[in-house]
Amino acid sequence: MKIGKTNAVLIWKQLEDVLVPRLGLTVVERAVYSHLVRHSRLEGRVRLRFSILWLARGNRLSAGSVRLAVRRLVAKGVLRLVERTKAGHVVEVRLPEEIRGIRRNRIEPDGPARVPREGDLEERDFLQTKARREAIHARERGACFYCMRRLTARVRCLDHVVPAVRRGSNSYRNLVSSCAECNAQKGETPAEGFLRLLYRDGRLTAKEFTGRLRAVEALAAGKLRPALRSEDAKDD
Ligand SMILES: [Zn+2]
Repeated sequence: MKIGKTNAVLIWKQLEDVLVPRLGLTVVERAVYSHLVRHSRLEGRVRLRFSILWLARGNRLSAGSVRLAVRRLVAKGVLRLVERTKAGHVVEVRLPEEIRGIRRNRIEPDGPARVPREGDLEERDFLQTKARREAIHARERGACFYCMRRLTARVRCLDHVVPAVRRGSNSYRNLVSSCAECNAQKGETPAEGFLRLLYRDGRLTAKEFTGRLRAVEALAAGKLRPALRSEDAKDD
């Protein structure tokens, strides 16, 4: 399909309004996808052969992060991997409406009905309603974010990763489900320091400790998004 101007406009709207929020594309994945679309579909080609180095240079990114982004885009069904050799990748670049789960009839101009858009989620106060507090607990799947022990409804609480007294917000990026003990012990200690303490006390193994540090990073980066039904996302 040769892409006319109108089509390109539509594609960009679908990318911003539907693809990014629904598939949770990161900034890097989005940049890589745009670059690939530019050099394939906007030139009337579906398939593209490229090297990671070329893609990294084109985006001013490291080869490692670009490689990871390509892998994730394949996993999310945005790219179809045709061939991978030392010479490079061959992929089919899909347009938003060609991606499974994001077909044309489900692409509404106002965005999907039940999945809150990224902007909406970002501004939400997650202490405000019971549904939102529950969504944070559900995201941690019944385990303390810090020490990973199993939690029951009676001993669990919501902890600010950056303490509220240090201007930590009530965003989903700053609230975690934790046991009462961690919540009390952590106090104003930064999350990384507190995890180190748990590791030294033998409450986390080395592997768990590394995993928890990654989780803190992912949380701050907005990668640990709680699942909210759209009516729960509203302010009330
Ligand atoms: Zn704990």
